[in-house]
Amino acid sequence: MIGWVFRVVRYLNYDIFVGMNPWIDRYMQVLERVGSRYFIIAGIAFFVFYVLLRSRMAPKKIQRAFPALRDYRREILYSVGTILIFGFIPLLFIFNPTVRPYTTLYDTIAERGWWYYVGIFPVMFLMHDTYFYWTHRLMHHPRLFRYFHLVHHQSTNPSPWAAYAFHPLEAIVEVGIFVVFLFTIPIHTTHIVLFFLLSIIYNVYGHLGWELYPKGFNTSRIGRWINTSVSHNQHHKYFKGNYGLYFLFWDRWMNTLRVEYDEAFEKATTADAATGS
Ligand SMILES: [Zn+2]
Ligand SMILES: [Zn+2]
Repeated sequence: MIGWVFRVVRYLNYDIFVGMNPWIDRYMQVLERVGSRYFIIAGIAFFVFYVLLRSRMAPKKIQRAFPALRDYRREILYSVGTILIFGFIPLLFIFNPTVRPYTTLYDTIAERGWWYYVGIFPVMFLMHDTYFYWTHRLMHHPRLFRYFHLVHHQSTNPSPWAAYAFHPLEAIVEVGIFVVFLFTIPIHTTHIVLFFLLSIIYNVYGHLGWELYPKGFNTSRIGRWINTSVSHNQHHKYFKGNYGLYFLFWDRWMNTLRVEYDEAFEKATTADAATGS
């Protein structure tokens, strides 16, 4: 639906801006893409868990209470602001003929082959996770927290809509990884599309309010290195610890994983209506 909203806005503006400024048209196209990605994925998650299965899934919710309507509204409002900021990056770096030659973008997949094409994805996730962990910890510094990160932490019991709920200053920090990619590793434009699609899916899962990984995942050989919805939910609830995005490498290495993480994970994956636990 939001895709249509952006489309309508674009066409409403079209007559005014046509021929005058193709950049505005480009910006609208980017917004449509970034915006629909957020609204469709967070919207599906919200509809399935908070509407359709609300009562059936209620006993398994990580935090029993549901956010209030004003929380959803705030999360969506700040997310729209984030989308407006994210939209500038492709404009400044990809569609800008002055800057684009200096980026590491490449045009055809054949240039570097399929092994590279597929192999770079894990590298991108590791880079993003590292970038996220350290900028996140920095934004928790008492001097910066209020200006950058407080908005995101207003959601102490996050919903899928919180995925992009950032203060504009934090949105600028978050989009920084995009710029890092564009100037460090050779990437194809479809890498960007796929990466940010997978990223928003994981981000929505992190704020979902329910755990989707099975019981015991947190202690399994692979699972102990993967960030989960329980882990990020704890970050929102307590503010301290569990700073990672996709992985728990940095949290484990830096000793910032909350001590009660395993217990909370166990609880979220075993709770049922019968025990009411
Ligand atoms: Zn969060
Ligand atoms: Zn935080």
